[in-house]
Amino acid sequence: MRAMVLNRQREALREEDVPQPSPGSGQVLVRIGACAVCRTDLHVLDGDLKNPKLPLILGHEIVGEVAELGPGAARFKLGDRVGIPWLGWTCGHCRYCLSGRENLCEKARFTGYTLDGGYAEFTVADERFCFPLPSSYSDAAAAPLLCAGLIGYRCLRKAGDARNLGIYGFGGAADIVAQVALHEGRKVFAFTRQGDTATQQFAKSLGAAWVGSSDSQPPEPLDAAIIFAPAGELVPQALIATARGGCVVCGGIHMSEIPAFSYDILWQERTVCSVANLTRGDGDAFLALAPKIPVRTQIRTFPLQEANVALAQLRAGAFRGSAVLLMR
Ligand SMILES: [Zn+2]
Ligand SMILES: [Zn+2]
Repeated sequence: MRAMVLNRQREALREEDVPQPSPGSGQVLVRIGACAVCRTDLHVLDGDLKNPKLPLILGHEIVGEVAELGPGAARFKLGDRVGIPWLGWTCGHCRYCLSGRENLCEKARFTGYTLDGGYAEFTVADERFCFPLPSSYSDAAAAPLLCAGLIGYRCLRKAGDARNLGIYGFGGAADIVAQVALHEGRKVFAFTRQGDTATQQFAKSLGAAWVGSSDSQPPEPLDAAIIFAPAGELVPQALIATARGGCVVCGGIHMSEIPAFSYDILWQERTVCSVANLTRGDGDAFLALAPKIPVRTQIRTFPLQEANVALAQLRAGAFRGSAVLLMR
């Protein structure tokens, strides 16, 4: 898999040798400017997510400009800047699609997983699933909004009107969701790996009311907790930190096994739920809100050729915020 990713990148770099894909009906060819690197890319690469398209180009936080219109494509003009997120296609007529829950469509296709993604110079996308992007962001700064931002936003909506919000795993998504939560007047409690004082300092600088390690108890009970780290043992820890009636939202696409826990910590109407994918409604709402706050993304850029370095550094937790690949 790793070798395939590399091979595809090499192919993408020899633009003159490789015929660019032609967009089909309702599709656009997009010249990519930037693509952010997400933890989900590691889960695809490692085989934690089953049945990827193979060979596959990773990447689902794509910013680029429309370079060619397929037959029937009319939503964008040539040169328009668009964002391409994880949700790449849905069937449009199943019970989920028809009830505002297209994120759960069983036939959905996902960018950089079951569709080719953005670790490339060009990609083809269904125009209905692309987003216009706020002009106040550069390509690189906008890229993390497309997954870290959108999924984080959906997690925050699942947390309801929680005033005391715990966030476990303070990476790119947490950074963005904390800014939205603070803007909404919530109190943020940031939980990091034990001894990760650099990330704790960073969370404090964003405005977190309290920072600590994920096995410690906050000074006040949480009304909701969002878990971004893929560590199942955080679920009981977050339940213990959560008040009666509170909710623990699991925001990752993959999590290690959740250890057995006593019913006591779920009792009193606490709930545990997961957040899967995004709807286009989430995207429209979040992308309208982000420039008003304004949400600032912390990015570290890499040239496309260093995609594997970016992935390795993400795995090692070597930087804060989001890694972004630049195509030119
Ligand atoms: Zn459907
Ligand atoms: Zn993602």
